[in-house]
Amino acid sequence: MQPKLKLSELLNKKGNDSAECPFCKGQETRLHALFGSQLSTSQYYCEVCRVVFERIKWEPPLEENASSSD
Ligand SMILES: [Zn+2]
Repeated sequence: MQPKLKLSELLNKKGNDSAECPFCKGQETRLHALFGSQLSTSQYYCEVCRVVFERIKWEPPLEENASSSD
């Protein structure tokens, strides 16, 4: 048997306004801006590293459909 993945708990733990810092792997972050360099990213501020990093909110659609020509 494989251990149960408590996905709901993970989602609750992460919340909407927190993200794991890619530098210190900490959770001491807060939402800095709703949008980063791309619409699919948000900017978060790490209280520990005191840097702003971007985090992908959702997977962007495949760029195969981006062909606007013709
Ligand atoms: Zn950090």
